[in-house]
Amino acid sequence: MDTKRSYGGLDVFRMIAAFLVVAIHTSPLGTFSAEADFFLTRELARLAVPFFFMVTGHFVLAGWVRGEDRDFGSIRRYLARVAVLYGVSVLLYLPIGIYAGHYWELTFSGALRMLFFDGTFYHLWYFPALLLGILIVSLLGRFCAPGLSLFVSSVLYLIGLLGDSYWGLAQKIPGVSDAYELGFRCFSYTRNGIFLAPLFLVMGALLERGAEKTKPVVNAVGLGVTFALMAAEGFILRHFDFQRHDSMYLLLPFCMFFLYRLLLSWNRKTVGAFRKISMWIYILHPAVIVVVRGCAKAIGVSGIFVDNSLIHYLTVCAGSAAAGLAAVVVQTRLRRKKGYEKDRAWIELDMAALEHNVRTMQAMLPENCKLMPAVKAEAYGHGAVLISRELNRLGVKAFCVASVSEGVQLRKAGVRGEILILGYTHPRQLDLVRRYHLLQAVVDSRYAEELARYGRKLHVHIAVDTGMHRIGIPCSRQEEIERVFQIKNLKVEGIFSHLCVSDSEEAGKEEFTLAQGEAFFQLTDALRGKGYECKRHLIASNGILNYPQFAGDYARAGIILYGVRSAEGDMDRSGAVLRPVMSLKARVASVRELNPGEGAGYGLAFVAKRPARIATITIGYADGLSRLLSGGRGEVLIRGHRAPIAGRVCMDQTLVDVTEIPDVQTGDIAVLIGRSGSEVITAYDMAEAAGTITNEIFTSMGARLTRTVKPAAGKRKAITGADMREKKTAEEPSGEKPQDK
Ligand SMILES: *Cc1c(COP(=O)(O)O)cnc(C)c1O
Repeated sequence: MDTKRSYGGLDVFRMIAAFLVVAIHTSPLGTFSAEADFFLTRELARLAVPFFFMVTGHFVLAGWVRGEDRDFGSIRRYLARVAVLYGVSVLLYLPIGIYAGHYWELTFSGALRMLFFDGTFYHLWYFPALLLGILIVSLLGRFCAPGLSLFVSSVLYLIGLLGDSYWGLAQKIPGVSDAYELGFRCFSYTRNGIFLAPLFLVMGALLERGAEKTKPVVNAVGLGVTFALMAAEGFILRHFDFQRHDSMYLLLPFCMFFLYRLLLSWNRKTVGAFRKISMWIYILHPAVIVVVRGCAKAIGVSGIFVDNSLIHYLTVCAGSAAAGLAAVVVQTRLRRKKGYEKDRAWIELDMAALEHNVRTMQAMLPENCKLMPAVKAEAYGHGAVLISRELNRLGVKAFCVASVSEGVQLRKAGVRGEILILGYTHPRQLDLVRRYHLLQAVVDSRYAEELARYGRKLHVHIAVDTGMHRIGIPCSRQEEIERVFQIKNLKVEGIFSHLCVSDSEEAGKEEFTLAQGEAFFQLTDALRGKGYECKRHLIASNGILNYPQFAGDYARAGIILYGVRSAEGDMDRSGAVLRPVMSLKARVASVRELNPGEGAGYGLAFVAKRPARIATITIGYADGLSRLLSGGRGEVLIRGHRAPIAGRVCMDQTLVDVTEIPDVQTGDIAVLIGRSGSEVITAYDMAEAAGTITNEIFTSMGARLTRTVKPAAGKRKAITGADMREKKTAEEPSGEKPQDK
C-alpha cells in the first residue's frame, strides 16, 4: 500500500476544513437551534484547525522531528513563506479593523500582543500560532527523541486545555487561575500562541509512519467513537459552564489521530488546487462576511441573506470559494509575470504524465515492491528537485542518485524518504552522507574497509556484481559480503545488483539476465538464512518491463519514469503505455529571407537552393540541442509544422528553415521535443537523429534551461505511448539501433 499512497484525501479534507472554519464564524444553524449550532461550530468544526496544523507537521516537519533530516533550510523557507502570508493578511484586514474600531485604544504592548499572539483580526491568530508552533517543535525535534517531543507538546496542550474548555476546573484550584490571568494579558486565549499548535504539528510529523498497517475501518470506527465522546464532553462542559473558550477538548487529539489516519488511507488523486484555495478561503472569508452583510444591507435583503443563518452561511461559503479561486488566479498570474521561465529555452514538465507513469509501474510491480526512482543527473534532465518533490507528493519515499551532491541537493529542497547514492563517494565526503541521512553503496570490499576506517555510523546498501562488472562485490564471494555485514559502524540496510542486458532479445542475452537474477536471489536467500536480513533490489526500467519476477523490495525506475525507453526498439514485454514528461521549447528570435545561393550560419553550411526563409531560435548545443542534429538531421515544430534545422547548431542559437511555414514571427514557440498542433517530435526522434539514446538526450539538457510545470487544468492532449507507436508505423524505422548506454 505504502508506495501507492497519494494524499488526495488530505486535499479534499482541506476544503471541508476551510468551510468548517467559515461555519465557526457564521453559526449556520444559529437561527434554528442553539444546541445544533454548538455541535456544528464548537465541536465538529473544531477538527479543522488542528487538521491544518497536522498537515504542516506532516509535510514540513516530519524528517526533522523524527531526526532523519538535520537540514533546517526547508523549514526556514516555509517559515518565511508563512510570515509573508501573515503580513499580507494583516495588511488586508487593517482597513476593516480600523473601520470596526479595533485599534483605537491600542498601546505598544497591545500591538505586540496582537502581532505575536492574537493576530490582529479574529481568525489570524492561526498564523502566529503556526510560526511559534513550528519554532517550538523544531527546537524539540533538535534536542529530543520523537517520543519526548510528543510528551512535551501534550503537556503544553493540557496547560492550554485548562485555560480553555476546562477553565471552570482551573478556577477551582487556588493560585492556578491567577497564573492563567497573567497569561491572558499576553494572549486572549490559550489556543493562541504556544499551547495548541505544537501537539498537532508533532502528531502530523509522526502519524504517517505505520499508517498503512491500520485498516480504514479501524480508523473510521475509532473516529466515530472518539468524536461521539468528544461531542458528549463538549456538551457536559457547556452544561456546567466550564468553558472560557471552546477550541480544545481532552478527546480532540484522539479524534484527530483517527481522522488523519483515515484520510491517509483514502487513496484518491491529489488535487493541488485545493491546497491553495482552502488557504485563501481561510484568509478571505471574514472579509466576505463583511461584504455580504454590507451588500445585503445596502440593497435591503438582510432579512434573507443575514437573518437566516443557513442562507447566510451558504452565501459566505460561495463568496469565499469565488474569492479563493480569484486569489489563486491572481497569485499564478503574478508569478507568471515575474517568471522568465518561458522567455528563451525551457523544459515543460507534465506532472500528470509523471503520475500516470508512477501508477502504471506500481500496477506492474508486486505489492511489496516499492519504487525507488533514479533521479540522478537532474532526474534525467527533468529537474531533480521538481520531480522528487512531486514524487514525494505521489507517495514515493525512496530515491537513488549518483553522487553525494545530488543527495544533499534533494535534502536541502526538503525531499523526504530514503536517498541511496548508487556509486563511489570519496571518504572526505562521508560527513555529508551522515549529516544528510543518505544511504551509501558499498562498491567493493576494499571500499568497505575504507568505510570501516571512517569509524562513524553509516547506513549502506551493498552492491553485488552479478555479471555487469562495473561495481559490486562478486556475487560468488559470499564470505566477503558477510564480512561487510559484520563491520561495526556499518548498518547494512540493503543489497543490490544491476542488470545490463535486460533490454535485449538477442541470443544469449535473456539467459544471461535470468542467470543474473537467479544468482542474486540465491545469494540473498543464503544470506537471509544466516540471519543477514536487509532489503534487496535488482531491477531498473528494463527489468520492470521485462523481468518483473525479479522485483525485490525496490525497483530503481529511471528512464521509463520519464515516459520513454532508452530506444524505441528496446524489448518491452509489458506493453505498458507510458507518457513522456518532458517537452523542450524555445522562441523564434528573428526571421529573414535568403536569395537562392546565399549561405547561412557557421561555415555557411546552409545554402538556399530557392528563395528561403530562415528563423533563428533561442536554443543551442549548450542547452542540450546536440550539434549532431545539424544539417537537417533534426527538426523543430513551429505553428504545428515541421522545420528542419538549417546548417550547424550554434552554442546558443540555431537556424531553422521555415520557408514552408506561413507567418512565422519573432516570439513564436519552437518545439524541439513535444507537441505542436497535430505534430509531435518525441525524444526517440531526437535521439535517433543524433545517433544516441533518449537517456543521453535528456541528461545533456543544459544548466541554463528553465523548467516549468505544465498547468494541469488546461487538459491539452498529452503525447501518449500510443501516439508514438502510431507515428512509428507512419515513418520508416531507421535501421541501426542506438548502442548501449
Ligand atoms: C541509472 C541506474 C538505474 C536506473 O536505470 P534506468 O535504466 O534508467 O531505469 C538503476 N540502477 C542503477 C544502478 C543505475 O545506475
